[in-house]
Amino acid sequence: MSPADPSPALLTVRGLQKSFGKNNVLSSIDLEVNRGNVLALIGPSGSGKTTILRCLNGLELADGGSIDVAGELALSFETTPSKKSLTVLRDRSAMVFQHYNLFPHKTVLENVVEGPVVVQRRPVAEARAEALALLARVGLTDKQNSYPFELSGGQQQRVGIVRALALRPQLLLFDEPTSALDPELVGDVLRLIKELAGEGWTMVIVTHELEFAREVAHEVAFVDGGHIVERGDPKELLRNPQNERTQQFLHRLL
Ligand code: ADP
Repeated sequence: MSPADPSPALLTVRGLQKSFGKNNVLSSIDLEVNRGNVLALIGPSGSGKTTILRCLNGLELADGGSIDVAGELALSFETTPSKKSLTVLRDRSAMVFQHYNLFPHKTVLENVVEGPVVVQRRPVAEARAEALALLARVGLTDKQNSYPFELSGGQQQRVGIVRALALRPQLLLFDEPTSALDPELVGDVLRLIKELAGEGWTMVIVTHELEFAREVAHEVAFVDGGHIVERGDPKELLRNPQNERTQQFLHRLL
C-alpha cells in the first residue's frame, strides 16, 4: 500500500439496496473487506446472502448504494451505471457457485480458458498455460480433457475455483461452495479455500460451515432479512453473539 492510499479496504459497500418487484431483499448493506482478508457471510436461507454476492459481481444490478472494489472504482447505483463501469466491476471479482456452473459441453480445460480468452481477450497460449498450471496445482492435470459429468462434485468445484482464479480477480466470491457436496468431499474443497486465504486472496464467502468460518475468516457478518444484523471477530461472534436473532440462528446450527 502506498502512503497516498490510506485505506486498506479492497472492498467498500455503502447503502446497498436491492428489490425484486415488491420484495425488498437488501436494505442498506454496508461492508468493508481489507486487502488479503476473508469475510464470511452467515444467516438463514432467503436472508439475502447470495444476492449480496451477485450484486458485488454485477450479476444483479443493485437499486441503490455504491460498491468500490480496489479503490479506483466507486460505482454508484443511485442511477443506472454505465455498461463500461459494470464491465470493470465484473472484471474485479470472480464467483464460485454452489452448483459449480461449469459449461457441460466443454472440457475442464476449455471451461477454465473460456473467461480469460473470450471475456478478457487474453492470448490463447497464455491463458492455456496459466489454466494448466492452476489445474496442476489442484491435482486435476489428468482431468483437463474430461467433461464435467465425468468428475466428482469435489473435482467439479475445484475446477470452479480454478476457473475463478484464472480470471485474475482482485476479489473472490464463494456462494456456499461446499453445500452441494457429499460430506466426504467437503474437506478437500475447504482446504483449498483455506490455502488461498493463506496466500492473501481477498474473499467473501457465504457458508454454513461455521467451524471453517471460525478458522479462516477475519470477520463474520450475520445477515437476516436483508440486513447485516451483527458482525465481528469470528471467534467472538460465534461464541458470544450479542443479537438475539444471531443467537437463535447459531443455536439452531450448533
Ligand atoms: P440467501 O442466499 O440468504 O439464501 P438469496 O439472496 O438467495 O438469499 O434470496 C433472498 C431473497 O431474494 C429471497 O426471498 C429470494 O426468493 C429472493 N430472490 C433472489 N433472487 C431472486 C430473483 N432473481 N428474482 C426474484 N426473487 C429473488
